[in-house]
Amino acid sequence: MSLKVYNTKNQKKEDFIPVHEGNVGMYVCGPTVYNDVHIGNCRTFISFDLIYRYLLHLGFKVRYVRNITDVGHLENDSDDGDDKIAKKAKLENLEPMEIVQKYTNGFHNMMQLFNTLPPSIEPTATGHLIEQIEMVETIIQNGFGYEVNGSVYFDVKKFAEKFGYGELSGRKIDELQNNTRELTGGEEKRNSLDFVIWKKADPKHIMQWNSPWGKGFPGWHLECSAMSTKYLGEEFDIHGGGMDLKFPHHECEIAQNVAVTGKKDPIKYWLHANMLTLNGEKMSKSTGQFFLPQQLFDGTSKFFTKAYSPMAVKFFMMQSHYRSTLDISNEALEASEKGMERLVNAYHLLGNLKESDSTDYDAKDLQNKCYDAMNDDFNSPMVIAHLFDAVKYINSVNDGSKKINSETKSLLQNIFNNFLVQIMGLKMDLNQKEVNGIEEDLMQIIIDIRKNAKINKDFATADKIRAELERLQIVLKDSKEGTTYEKN
Ligand code: AMP
Ligand code: ZN
Repeated sequence: MSLKVYNTKNQKKEDFIPVHEGNVGMYVCGPTVYNDVHIGNCRTFISFDLIYRYLLHLGFKVRYVRNITDVGHLENDSDDGDDKIAKKAKLENLEPMEIVQKYTNGFHNMMQLFNTLPPSIEPTATGHLIEQIEMVETIIQNGFGYEVNGSVYFDVKKFAEKFGYGELSGRKIDELQNNTRELTGGEEKRNSLDFVIWKKADPKHIMQWNSPWGKGFPGWHLECSAMSTKYLGEEFDIHGGGMDLKFPHHECEIAQNVAVTGKKDPIKYWLHANMLTLNGEKMSKSTGQFFLPQQLFDGTSKFFTKAYSPMAVKFFMMQSHYRSTLDISNEALEASEKGMERLVNAYHLLGNLKESDSTDYDAKDLQNKCYDAMNDDFNSPMVIAHLFDAVKYINSVNDGSKKINSETKSLLQNIFNNFLVQIMGLKMDLNQKEVNGIEEDLMQIIIDIRKNAKINKDFATADKIRAELERLQIVLKDSKEGTTYEKN
């Protein structure tokens, strides 16, 4: 079975045939770096990491472009309000580029903790102002943009008459028109559906650049059109992002691309990842229905009873299809953590299983099923379900009730490696509760101090160390072989 992907544009699964055989161009809308990346953002980027890794695994040469939005994203979609980054810079009394750097670093750290691969190119909006200004000029020349008082707007109605508008998100131009607020007369836009592609900067605005229309900054939708075209061409294979970006962001991106080239359908496959909710509700900072990923890892969020490792969280995400909504809760994470431990234990057990001359398992069939699942629009939960079947078998071999030969063993090792390590990007360390690489080392230092205290008959210190660790739900276990620890 060859790869099929669900194309939002046509609302169905389609055979994946890239524009240029053997090569894939993939653009994913990246984060707006004005605050800490949240776990919902992480889910979207982890979903596209799975897709990227699988395409690489299939042997495609992939150019994966994921941008950093460092200017132009206004607080709301109606082209007014502050630029999110400029506002945060004022609030934190920092240069906008300090805000950008700070939260880009935070985003990269988080992506690393989740063991995602970096994109091939990570362009920034401020690094591509010339390209964006050129694009605005062409849009005006082609008759789909107009300037008013130093700002330039995209003429949606005119564009829609020639090329259509709203197809990706299934919206009809008349309905859109009815659902937007009427212009009151004082606005610069000719029509309420028009969107800004270049915005005149208020003299007080800290982020502004020279342009043929005076000092200003680009509209948010423009950067993705400019950068995807620059690095992937006028026609490319995959464009991705979260579901919430379908409208207006992606619809506007398509309109801009087509207005420049005159070629309808610049992107072959539109892929959208679904949203993450918290205890059944939308996550929102303003209502307190929110936590930072780091709080999940260090156990300080009120929504969770303990800490979960990035790999347990990632495994939890892999257990759901990228197009399904996913609800994060303490129970769900606890179940995923246990599931991941079972898989990891089986993975490590596998290498030590006693080999027989015969086998009781068809590993080739498992391999086919796993590929079929991934080829069916990247169905990672289905792959995991198949692998659990293998876990049962591995445990049965271990307790002596089933047999394994060397061929089955090495094929199973290969399947676990390919699907869990390479394609899902899971780290299969035995101590899954370990939050980061230095925890083990730190614990060893503490254990050694306690050991020395005991040798010196300083039992008060030894007991204090045990008690303090227990307060953190870390239990020391003394045995003849030495002391180990367990986190509850
Ligand atoms: P932003 O930084 O707001 O532009 O968002 C970056 C990416 O995260 C976009 O692709 C969004 O669609 C996605 N995103 C935002 N909120 C969520 C959420 N709750 N669940 C999943 N993805 C999200
Ligand atoms: Zn975008």
